[in-house]
Amino acid sequence: MQVRFPDIRFKFRFMRSGRPQSALARKGLATGDRLVLGKQVIPYDAIARTSLRDEHLALLLAPDAGRESKPLRKLAKDGQLRLAVSKGMAQAVKRQIDRARSLKQVAQRHAELAQAGMAEQFRAAACPGCHAALDLSGLDRTPYVHCPFCETVFKQDGTVATSGSHFLFCDECGMFHQVEAHTGRCYGVAFSLSGVLPEPQHLCSRCAARISRRILLSNPLVFFGLTFMVLLARNVTPKQDESQHQLTKANALAEKGRYTEAEPLYIDLLRGLPEHPGLLVNQGLAHLNGGDPMGAALLFRRALASCSNHSRARGLLELAERGTAKTTP
Ligand SMILES: [Zn+2]
Ligand SMILES: [Zn+2]
Repeated sequence: MQVRFPDIRFKFRFMRSGRPQSALARKGLATGDRLVLGKQVIPYDAIARTSLRDEHLALLLAPDAGRESKPLRKLAKDGQLRLAVSKGMAQAVKRQIDRARSLKQVAQRHAELAQAGMAEQFRAAACPGCHAALDLSGLDRTPYVHCPFCETVFKQDGTVATSGSHFLFCDECGMFHQVEAHTGRCYGVAFSLSGVLPEPQHLCSRCAARISRRILLSNPLVFFGLTFMVLLARNVTPKQDESQHQLTKANALAEKGRYTEAEPLYIDLLRGLPEHPGLLVNQGLAHLNGGDPMGAALLFRRALASCSNHSRARGLLELAERGTAKTTP
């Protein structure tokens, strides 16, 4: 099937250590198979991963990308290209890259399986959130599918359970939570005045509040600190309904490893979102942080039984199993 990719034109600036590398924005173009950034042409094959924080797009380049190009090597010193994309176009650019790359990868997988005489093992799904193609070959058919490109969790019939635009894993505490505001802008402004420019991040309300306190304490200009704390609190704390408030409470207990207290809260939340992998991962983290890797492993297995392609649950299960092996005589 021929998939059309209308070209996306945008303006951008290269970023380094949180600072723009030019005063003026340059022209960019995302086609069906390449990204053109000023004079640089980057085929999508040279991109290993994309991530979006606020309007900042980070492109992790494949190890051999840019071998021929000195300017590209210089720009992506740590293997990542960072762009500040103008006028709300960052998500469209990311989606174009993810969609084109994922369709190609899925087609390649199909061809490989067909060549090996195992075409019947091929299984794929389209994410209803970002339209990326997801390779599910060889994985159990479970109630949920997780999109690694946009973090949307959806059911087999394509119904969205939780949208990646609102529910994500927090960059700071690693827990599944509501992240309504992308905190990069405000977070960056506050730190720029205290002399530090971190990369923008997705933060849950607890971590945003914690970081705002840290800014206040580390900033010698207490007045500015206070101002930014108020700004941060207004910008990054989404209005929470009862279940989100409960999730905040459960995650705070989970982070401290107080799993017996967190458990009834997660059980209650799971009634609203039965066997949701994000909630089960949080509950598993509560056990892991509380020194109970065996209990954690059970929950990560439950998350995978509910969503077989959840790579975070898989990684955490391996971690918990290593912990179980250590504690078992
Ligand atoms: Zn998606
Ligand atoms: Zn957090």
